Amino acid sequence: MLKYADYDIVFQEIPNEVSLAINISNCPNHCIGCHSPYLMKDVGDVLDEQSLQLLMDKYGHDVTCVCFMGGDADPNSVATLASFVKEKYPSMKVGWYSGKDQLPEFFSLKNFDYVKIGSYREECGPLKSRTTNQRLYKIHEGKNLQDITEKFWK
Ligand code: SF4
Repeated sequence: MLKYADYDIVFQEIPNEVSLAINISNCPNHCIGCHSPYLMKDVGDVLDEQSLQLLMDKYGHDVTCVCFMGGDADPNSVATLASFVKEKYPSMKVGWYSGKDQLPEFFSLKNFDYVKIGSYREECGPLKSRTTNQRLYKIHEGKNLQDITEKFWK
């Protein structure tokens, strides 16, 4: 089960998109120097199709993308919610920020347009740093990954 601690409408997480960024709690990654340590706790409200629908009713017209921030403790539920968004809002982009260094085995990207992979490593810096270990990919046809990380460096 997923829970979300909060959410925001953001402009920088996914280039050229206005994103409803949903901050999912219970993060299992425990990166040193984590930007949001509160997300490591099992806090917030349940994030399921019902609660996501309520958020979409409120903000769906204001955004071009729904971005799930975290959810590494239950990636299959993230994929289920991505499918829900695509089914109900076919033109809405869907992104996922994972803090893992690799995608889960057998994880389908079919319902995603963007995926960010990579733990936070202080010595490498965040996505906007040219030395970052993290990568943002644009997904083509549900399976081909195009590295667009450099868009953060311009
Ligand atoms: S993945 Fe993100 S939220 Fe989780 S510990 Fe690392 S920096 Fe913090």
